[in-house]
Amino acid sequence: MAGITAAVELAEAGREVVLVEKEACLGGNVVRMNSYFPKFCPPNCGLEINYRRIRSSRRIRILTQSTVEHIEGVSGDFSVKIKTAPAYINDLCTACGKCAEVCPVERPNAFNYGFGKTKAAYLPHEMTFPFTYVIDGTVCLKEQCGKCVEVCDYNAIDLNAEEETTVLNVERIIIATGWKTFDAKKIKNLCYAAPNVVTNVELERLLAVGGPGEGTLKRPSDHEIPRTIAFVQCAGSRDENYLPYCSAVCCSASLKHALTISERCTDAQISIYYIDLRVSGRNEDLLVKAENNKNIRFIKGKIGRISESDDNHDLEVEAEDILSGRKIKERYDMVVLATGMVPNNPLEGIILTDSEGFLVENQLEGIVTAATCRKPMDVSESVKDATSAAVKSIKTNF
Ligand SMILES: Cc1cc2nc3c(=O)[nH]c(=O)nc-3n(C[C@H](O)[C@H](O)[C@H](O)COP(=O)(O)OP(=O)(O)OC[C@H]3O[C@@H](n4cnc5c(N)ncnc54)[C@H](O)[C@@H]3O)c2cc1C
Repeated sequence: MAGITAAVELAEAGREVVLVEKEACLGGNVVRMNSYFPKFCPPNCGLEINYRRIRSSRRIRILTQSTVEHIEGVSGDFSVKIKTAPAYINDLCTACGKCAEVCPVERPNAFNYGFGKTKAAYLPHEMTFPFTYVIDGTVCLKEQCGKCVEVCDYNAIDLNAEEETTVLNVERIIIATGWKTFDAKKIKNLCYAAPNVVTNVELERLLAVGGPGEGTLKRPSDHEIPRTIAFVQCAGSRDENYLPYCSAVCCSASLKHALTISERCTDAQISIYYIDLRVSGRNEDLLVKAENNKNIRFIKGKIGRISESDDNHDLEVEAEDILSGRKIKERYDMVVLATGMVPNNPLEGIILTDSEGFLVENQLEGIVTAATCRKPMDVSESVKDATSAAVKSIKTNF
């Protein structure tokens, strides 16, 4: 969202922009959400407006499946080396889908965090932008198969495509590489290896209409609808052993999730385990709504341990209820870990970071960082931060 925002703002201010995206399509973490707070809009709400702005601009060049390998030079005269993965399908693709129909190879659906499968030739998701199929070169059988090439009426497929390197001369650089979720496998006591313990970002896909349950939340182990769900706030966050900082959005995200589940499944019993709840601004309304919902319960206490039952993959959660002083041991159908945000650094060792790995705002003169690679923030703050980065980048000095 931040990179797209900065690009359209700069293009509309008359600058030529190259938008470099490592995935096959734009939209980052936002496009993978089921909905986003504060208004519970679907992600296409904000993104579609920006895609329209991109389509109507002749000043934005998009390089997908591309990463920056190297930057050298000075403000006003940077040389940027970009590596682009082989584009087996080019922009003649009309997204007719015939390639996927005949493709014999399956792969885990990466967009859905591995829940479900796609063919090796696939459309990343229903809102993909640019709207073309892509081929996963790591599993495609290439010339041993070639069925997709035979059925493509538009000559859009080249299975011999190779990686390309482009060197661009640019005046300014904005880094808006966002975040990835904290690796929950590292948290020893929260049983993430169990199929019914999922992270908050995985839950976004499990709730989504384009997700594996097609809009109905189902337990990964047996595809049953979960009736009892525990949310574990600060899973790994504000903990010197893992992430020492607060990611600022996880409490609001869990309230969004709890309210969404409660609305869709009116008999679901939801427990939110928290250290303290950090919601501000318009998201305070979510807290009030959740507190007034008889099916949502708040327990102030840190989780000691989660274990999986031997019989049916239910989870046993052990915690201390700080307000009553009691030890709790409760069984749940599903557990959601509210894991935090870890910044993506595109050029480790070259880009300046703070002690927590977030990218320092002003790098070399002429390089600005924007939004969640800089510090945790929500979508509306990211948009504002990206607009501010665009303005800073067109000032001569900053
Ligand atoms: C569980 C959860 C739920 C959330 N729900 C909400 C919500 O409901 N409402 C809300 O306002 N906020 C929410 N947020 C916060 C929201 O996700 C962020 O504010 C938003 O994603 C920030 O956008 P961004 O553009 O900074 O980063 P990202 O969305 O992470 O986008 C970064 C982009 O950079 C690309 N990229 C990364 N590295 C490279 C590289 N080396 N080269 C090229 N491209 C690269 C990525 O592929 C991606 O497209 C939530 C966060 C979490 C953890």
